[in-house]
Parts: sequence; structure tokens; C-alpha cells
Amino acid sequence: MRDAINLPDLIKEFGDDESCRRYIEALRWRKGVTCPRCDKPATAIANRFQYDCDACHYQFSVTSGTIFHDTHLPLTKWFLATYLLCESKKGMSACQIQRTLGISYKTAWYLCHRIRAAMLEVAPEKLEGTVEIDETYVAGKKRRWRAKNEPQVVIGIRQRNGDLRLIRAKDAKSATVREIINANVGGHVEVILTDESAIYPWALDNMQKSKHKTINHSREYAHGDVHTNTVESAFSLLKRGIVGTWHKVSAKHLPAYLDEMCFRFNNRKNQFLFRDTLIRLILSPNLEYKDLTAKAENAA
Ligand SMILES: [Zn+2]
Repeated sequence: MRDAINLPDLIKEFGDDESCRRYIEALRWRKGVTCPRCDKPATAIANRFQYDCDACHYQFSVTSGTIFHDTHLPLTKWFLATYLLCESKKGMSACQIQRTLGISYKTAWYLCHRIRAAMLEVAPEKLEGTVEIDETYVAGKKRRWRAKNEPQVVIGIRQRNGDLRLIRAKDAKSATVREIINANVGGHVEVILTDESAIYPWALDNMQKSKHKTINHSREYAHGDVHTNTVESAFSLLKRGIVGTWHKVSAKHLPAYLDEMCFRFNNRKNQFLFRDTLIRLILSPNLEYKDLTAKAENAA
């Protein structure tokens, strides 16, 4: 099967449960089926999509121990949702997934969160080379019981011709921004570009300061190579995504949306994105609906 895939091909190739199961089998066990309990080889049971462990005789299916297990949702819909979330440049809301797949809102919401969690970079590498840093403000979802609607601070860090990080900050103070920069910018960084905001001279350490160049936005947008245009273009994509697709994001879910945006952006040239996201879904720990809602409520 070709790995870069369009929607008609997806529907043709994964239009039924059996072909989805075959694909999960191939992605999950590249060197032959092994038992999830004892890791020994297992044999397929004819006509049942089940396997029997040669050693301990535990019987399991291709979805056992994965997030696909125990969901009442057909695998074909899991595949479609994963594809849609990977392919849409600005993301898709749970409402859109609900309508497109003809499922309940609750199911669509759960699905979107699970796929987003799988998209999360486990241990992102630090950014090097030429790095642009900028901050922006995102309006949160209006809460009836909350008098004030504090905008959320998002710090964007982009390596030229490389990866993007979008991080929600608790405020735009130098100490907060310093922590975020140190967690995301590596020791071999060559140039750090920001605007003339007063945050950065205080947020950068001495090594970083020696590499710091600024652009005065009231005068010009670029001075030769000195500009923050590539991180700003990521911000405009983020804002179009939030306004156009998600219709304002509640503060507690903002980090998950930022992670999703970054994942999609950093994989923009990855023609195997659908396959890679499926692999992450297969290997990711199972997060049940009740855990997910509890986590969201605790974070509120
Ligand atoms: Zn076994």
C-alpha cells in the first residue's frame, strides 16, 4: 500500500473493519504477532481476528490493550477521524467531526482528545540554529460565571526551516518566558530573533543575549534576515484555527490545541503522517473517557 494517501483512497482501502484490522496488525507487530502478556509469538485463530499465544495461550485481538479496544466506534470511523485531524491544516472541531462522521458529540469529543493526545510530542528536541521568539494573546472562551475573560499568553518559538513550539504561559513576565526559552532552546543556538519587547533582555541568559538580535516593528518588519515573520505566520495560522475552527478554546484545553497545531505544522512535509499518527495511537496508553473528563475538570 502507498503511504501518502488521499480521502478517496482512504475510503477505498479502509472502508471495512477487516482492512483496518489488517493494517493495525501490520503497524503493531512489524516482526510478527507477539503476545501482549508474555511477548512470545502467537498464532492467528482462523476466521476470528483473534490470536492465541504459543506460550501462555492468552487469546487476544489486534486491538487488545490499545485505545481502539472497548470503544463501540467502528475502526473505519477511527481511521477517518485520524485522517481528518491529520490532514486539515487548521484542525477540526469536535462539532465538525460529529457531523462529518455521523456520531454523537460525546463520542466525537472523546475521539478528538484521544487523537490529539497521541499527536503529542513525547520528548521534543531543543531548537537550534536561527530561532525566532514572539508572544501573542489568545482570547479564551467566555464563561458565564466568570466576570473577567483573561486572554491567554502563548509563546511561539520557531527554528528557521525547522520546528515550531507553541507554549501557553501563565503570564508574559520575563521569569516565565525565561523558563520556557530554556526548556525549548538548545545550547548551540546561533541567533535569537525577537521584537523590541522589554521581556526578552530580561528573559535571556548571558549566552543567549550575545546572540540576540531585535527588530523594531514600528519601523520595519524585516531588516535583511532579522525578522520574526516565520513565527508570526504560525501565530496567524493558530488564530485562524481558533476563530475559524474551534470557535474559541477554553483555557484548560488550550495546551492540547497548541500541541496539535505544532504536531501538524512540524509534520507538514511528512507524507506518512496518517500512518505515523495511527502508530502513536496504537502504542499510546489507553485513556478512558472518565479519566479524560476528570483530568479536564481538575485542570479547570
Ligand atoms: Zn503469552
